[in-house]
Amino acid sequence: MNDPQIAIPVRAPATEALDDSILPFAVKALDLRGRIVRLGAAVDTILTSHDYPPPVAKLLGEAIVLTVMLGSSLKFDGRFILQTQSDGPVRMLVVDFTSPGKVRACAHFDAKRVTAAMAAGAADPGHLLGRGNLAMTIDQGPEMSRYQGVVPLEGGGLEAAAHEYFARSEQIPTRVRLAVAEEFRPGQNGAHRHWRAGGILLQFLPNSIERQRQADLDPGDAPPGTVAHATPEDEAWVEGRSLIATVDDLELIDPALSSERLAYRLFHERGVHVFRHAPVAAKCSCSRDGVETMLRSFPQADRDDMVEDGKITVTCEFCSSTYVFAPDEIAAAEPPSA
Ligand SMILES: [Zn+2]
Repeated sequence: MNDPQIAIPVRAPATEALDDSILPFAVKALDLRGRIVRLGAAVDTILTSHDYPPPVAKLLGEAIVLTVMLGSSLKFDGRFILQTQSDGPVRMLVVDFTSPGKVRACAHFDAKRVTAAMAAGAADPGHLLGRGNLAMTIDQGPEMSRYQGVVPLEGGGLEAAAHEYFARSEQIPTRVRLAVAEEFRPGQNGAHRHWRAGGILLQFLPNSIERQRQADLDPGDAPPGTVAHATPEDEAWVEGRSLIATVDDLELIDPALSSERLAYRLFHERGVHVFRHAPVAAKCSCSRDGVETMLRSFPQADRDDMVEDGKITVTCEFCSSTYVFAPDEIAAAEPPSA
């Protein structure tokens, strides 16, 4: 089941890198801002708890990195939800980030189609997702209206979809790199496998409005035949995106290369400022009270249908926690109907 393409070479344990952290940085000389995300136990906990086929786990890992990168940049308390719906073997991914640093995730997939895709050597993210859309929702709580941005999935992976989103919706020149792999560590009872993931986000945010104009925007609603106004790309952005194009997967997940060192490696010629690390952890928001409230919202007849072996069992699809209720535990305390 191990895909050699997603394995990290065996290495001696290293202490430098800070796992499960988000490192914001800025390159003032080029008007660039970004963040580097490094996930160890957080992504391993989520992916191991689901035990999905490796290509599905890797794809969900990429979605987790992207969600953590985007969700952690919000300047308020709330949730950021990334969700795909598409016609490929993986029909849905859901990643849910709650500020300041909690993440949970799950995938819905067709096991037969995933197995067939693996056998055909077509289990890369673009093939697994197929065509559909990717929605990003910002939820600031019941008092506030939700914001949702949707971008099409067109057979590319999540990086391509993210670039499309930022070009269309935000109109901010943006590049994203995502990497996920399994690390094999030799141990006393055989080798242990651990998922690791990392990513980098780079954005061009100049102060001057003139320089914010993008060169490659689609003419949009303009009448057919209109020639897109060709603005040359800003030199600072060309330099930034060229530098980020040199990042390879191993640099994003290597436990011996810290996020600071990676930022320095990329931008030292221009000078790079790093800010305070923010921690991130795998943590589900489900609870027995929450599940009980959800069960009470169903009519009694529906709850009766849920009873198996004299009890109602609910399993959280994000963290696989199981909650068991006696049927009368919920029915008895129901408020009398008018
Ligand atoms: Zn849960």
